[in-house]
Amino acid sequence: MTHTPVTRPAEDDERFMRLALEEARKAVEVLDEVPIGAVVVQEGEVLARAHNQTRTRKDPTAHAELIAISEAARATESMRLQGATVYTTVEPCFMCAGALCHARVARVVWGVRDPKFGGCVSLGGVLDEPGLNHQVEWSEGVCADEARELLQTFFRSKRAAKAADSWE
Ligand code: ZN
Repeated sequence: MTHTPVTRPAEDDERFMRLALEEARKAVEVLDEVPIGAVVVQEGEVLARAHNQTRTRKDPTAHAELIAISEAARATESMRLQGATVYTTVEPCFMCAGALCHARVARVVWGVRDPKFGGCVSLGGVLDEPGLNHQVEWSEGVCADEARELLQTFFRSKRAAKAADSWE
């Protein structure tokens, strides 16, 4: 489902989402973190890629999207990521959706919805808030099955069946 026209070829979305999925796998395989990954792309070039590190850094804000946005801003020496697209394996939370607006990214693409923390459609629609002075386009469902399977496998391995089942 999408509420805005897809402005890039679908194969590009899948290609970049696969990089985000690689990051999500790193989170779980290297750090035993909840597997979520994000990639920032500008003019077809990957500026940054990151994975969730909340446990490792003991930092509730160390979400994949925030880390990737910060790295991309440093890489470009600009606080604004004009025209950039952020690919993330999971629907951004309220905090990350807010950061996407602050960074002025053009578009965000995510895989699977987050029924517990999603701030874009699941629990609220930050990106569609008409009062914001910057609108971020969004699309969802790219490589959703892979993203969901990583999460379900992770939570099942933690014997958190309820958490595992919450990913539709
Ligand atoms: Zn977040």
